[in-house]
Amino acid sequence: MKKPVVDRAKCIGAAACESVCPEVFKVDTEGKATVMDGIDYEKYKDKIADAIEMCPVAAIAWEEHEENPGN
Ligand code: SF4
Repeated sequence: MKKPVVDRAKCIGAAACESVCPEVFKVDTEGKATVMDGIDYEKYKDKIADAIEMCPVAAIAWEEHEENPGN
């Protein structure tokens, strides 16, 4: 499974990601974007790709995650 990740050290809270794909990205109380858990990221992959493109500091990237680690 691929999951988008936000580099919070880079994120400047521009919220472009949230406006492009609010189903996946939320800017939290620290003014940094977080990725919502338990989302079918595949379903939103085009919008996530747009968010990756729109982020002014290139803080978003795809990361490969094991579906069931340990199984
Ligand atoms: S678009 Fe980039 S800088 Fe703006 S909130 Fe999202 S991750 Fe952070």
